[in-house]
Amino acid sequence: AAPAADVTTEVVPSKANPVLLNFNENSLGMAPSAKKAVADALVNGHRYPDDAKEAARAAIAKMHGVDAKQVTLGAGSSQVIQAIIAAKVEAAKNAGQKVQVLEPTPTFGVAAAYVEALHVPVNDVVLQKDTLAVDMAAMKAAAKNFDGFTIVYFCNPNNPTGTVTGKNELSAWIKDCAAAKAPVFFLVDEAYGEYVEDPAFESGIELVKQGLTNLMVAKTFSKLYALAGLRLGYGIATPEVNAEIDNFESIDNINLASAVAATATLADAAYLKTSLESTKASKAIVVAALKELGIKYLDTQANFIYHEVKGSNADYQKAMAAENIFVGRTFAPFDNWSRLTLGTPGEMKAFVRVLKSFRAKGLI
Ligand code: PLP
Repeated sequence: AAPAADVTTEVVPSKANPVLLNFNENSLGMAPSAKKAVADALVNGHRYPDDAKEAARAAIAKMHGVDAKQVTLGAGSSQVIQAIIAAKVEAAKNAGQKVQVLEPTPTFGVAAAYVEALHVPVNDVVLQKDTLAVDMAAMKAAAKNFDGFTIVYFCNPNNPTGTVTGKNELSAWIKDCAAAKAPVFFLVDEAYGEYVEDPAFESGIELVKQGLTNLMVAKTFSKLYALAGLRLGYGIATPEVNAEIDNFESIDNINLASAVAATATLADAAYLKTSLESTKASKAIVVAALKELGIKYLDTQANFIYHEVKGSNADYQKAMAAENIFVGRTFAPFDNWSRLTLGTPGEMKAFVRVLKSFRAKGLI
């Protein structure tokens, strides 16, 4: 179904109703079926969520064609990421190995944030200058040259660029490391995997299905499924890797509302189609404007788009905020790039109107 008129009509940003294009949320809102599932579940709010949790786990496993034992649930994928890092850091330390987290930069900051408290160094490999693609040669060298255990945090598509690292590069590296029994574990974050159209992309789940134990794929219900506030994410790995992580998860870390909402949304094919179509329609609106204005942007495979601004993003952010539109923060060292979340088509029309007014004022 094409997005309905109520989300395609241009919105009027105001102080009371600002347009939030800064956190890669899904402006469409929860599926009506998910809202109903949460309301219906409240009668059982005093019971532990085991049945609902297992139903969600089964639905996720079915979607990916894996066993339920291969699905680790978390309060958002951030929590799964925290658990796998804790498990792998602990295992390496127990084996007397040094540990590093290796990641491209800029990227989503969650892995780096969690290891800070564990006193594990983060090795940041800056994206390639012109393409902003991951510097795979430098990443591989940084893993090879480390005399200890490396946890690679690899966000694919990457945040904030929205671009993917293709199968021939990422899957091949993971397979090579597995074959060589290299002391490297890959945490592949596919929070935006549902949006990818680039045929070069391959989900890490394909490698898990081949039995590789040197990776886990983290996924979330916060984006396409629009459940960011309810908190549900998951990891897919082999049963042995999942067992390792489970030791670092609290029991019943998933609440009833998130579990029933996730199950309902997964079953709601019409909503999922609308959610995807809506983001695609928003992308088309923004890309047309960026093209018209001659602004450099990257070919996004996610629900946000990274584009250049004139001057600093910090100033641009402030100018947009003055128009009651909130855009993404700056990701160093790319201080003149802005990450724009693709909200509803109606929100993007408002954004484009303001962007064009900035051009008229010489701001962009
Ligand atoms: N991973 C990436 C790449 C993200 O961009 C985000 C949120 O923006 C997350 C994980 C966090 O997702 P969750 O809400 O599932 O914790």
